[in-house]
Amino acid sequence: MVTQLAEKADAVIIGGGVFGCAIAYYYTKNNPGKKIIVLERNEICNSATSRAAALVTRIRSKKHFVPLSYETYHAIAEMEKQLGESMDMKKVGVLHVAASESSVAALDELMNVASAFNEPAEYLSQETVRNKVPWLKTDEVLKFGFMPGESYCDPYLLGTFFERCAKMQGADIRQGIEVNELLIEEDNAVGVSTNAGNIFADSVVIAAGAWSPIFAAQACVGLPMAPVRSQYWITERNDIFPVDSSIVLLPDAQAYARPEGGALLFGIREKKSMSVSPKEIPADISDFPFSNDKGISDLSEVIDNLARFFPAVYDIGLKFYIAGFSGYTPDNNLSMGIVPGIKNLYAATGCAGAGISVAGGVGLAFAEMIAGKPNPFDFTEFDISRFGNVDPFGKEWLEKCALARSQKRSG
Ligand SMILES: Cc1cc2nc3c(=O)[nH]c(=O)nc-3n(C[C@H](O)[C@H](O)[C@H](O)COP(=O)(O)OP(=O)(O)OC[C@H]3O[C@@H](n4cnc5c(N)ncnc54)[C@H](O)[C@@H]3O)c2cc1C
Repeated sequence: MVTQLAEKADAVIIGGGVFGCAIAYYYTKNNPGKKIIVLERNEICNSATSRAAALVTRIRSKKHFVPLSYETYHAIAEMEKQLGESMDMKKVGVLHVAASESSVAALDELMNVASAFNEPAEYLSQETVRNKVPWLKTDEVLKFGFMPGESYCDPYLLGTFFERCAKMQGADIRQGIEVNELLIEEDNAVGVSTNAGNIFADSVVIAAGAWSPIFAAQACVGLPMAPVRSQYWITERNDIFPVDSSIVLLPDAQAYARPEGGALLFGIREKKSMSVSPKEIPADISDFPFSNDKGISDLSEVIDNLARFFPAVYDIGLKFYIAGFSGYTPDNNLSMGIVPGIKNLYAATGCAGAGISVAGGVGLAFAEMIAGKPNPFDFTEFDISRFGNVDPFGKEWLEKCALARSQKRSG
């Protein structure tokens, strides 16, 4: 019998979504010669990442997200140079639409955030908006704020740009490798066991998206997040959807929209969001029955409110339905950092539906932390201990996280 020598790396990452790939990118960039292995049981970016609507929103009311998103834009520019390819970011800007006093107050506050970060932003007139976004009904709207620097992207391209650059820099990215368990000795994470043997490492990062709480539980930690369904539709093509019109955020309809090649991609927050125990999600996300009617009953419940701004929604054909899981938390903050109580274990999880936007900052933060350097960003609000002890598989917790999404008004 041949005894396999156990492998050793400086760091190992569970999950090859946008977070896992971004961490590998920054780690190899900033620590040449160090060995990092990313383990992905399917194909890179097969799960939440490739399903995202991919608004790369920078300016948010939660100010601690903002520097993370700026880092994503910075990384994209760097990777485009490195690969000699364009990621074809669609810099169409975000139009914030306020149709109630509370939304106007939130918009004014957001414009202050934009100004604090030197992000270009201006209020627009009804007439300008009507020309810019022909599908939008504007008569109930009180105020429009426009931020021309905001963009959307192809999320799979973003993930694979991180992956390809990381590989060029020496990362070992393995597909088709399933992690079964964390290897823990006393209170130290020392590696992972996989379907292809054990890998030992000085740092272990859980970046397994919806499935992350399963790994944290092996370290006796209740990771505070829950997989909550996000869903959106893409209409048929129509002249009212110019390819270069802006992203539109509609807090009063709890909806968002963006152009999609002459059609419109739009998403809603349904009245009752669906959350599921991580243990009940199959390894291949395409096997999960997200909806038996392509989300139509959820859409029907809110369609009248949406039609106040998008009247064509009643008649337009819907060509595609996309759904996936994001890791939500009751306060809509990320849930990430050092896993409490276990040395050398990190969790890049709980994306709160913003993982494409914040991927750059998340990647840099974890790359620095696992290299023993300070986190350049403020993660106080994302602290894994902030909810106390939670049972991430229990009904009560799952419902709390689903409610956070149902009540979300921002983009
Ligand atoms: C419908 C929808 C719309 C969205 N829209 C936006 C948006 O507009 N803007 C935005 O910023 N974000 C958006 N998001 C959120 C964004 O997609 C996520 O935040 C982001 O993709 C999270 O990346 P991740 O790497 O954490 O997870 P994932 O992409 O899910 O990656 C986790 C990976 O871990 C792997 N894995 C799990 N278990 C194991 C194991 N045991 N062994 C090996 N590998 C394992 C999985 O196969 C998977 O590839 C949206 C999400 C959805 C679903």
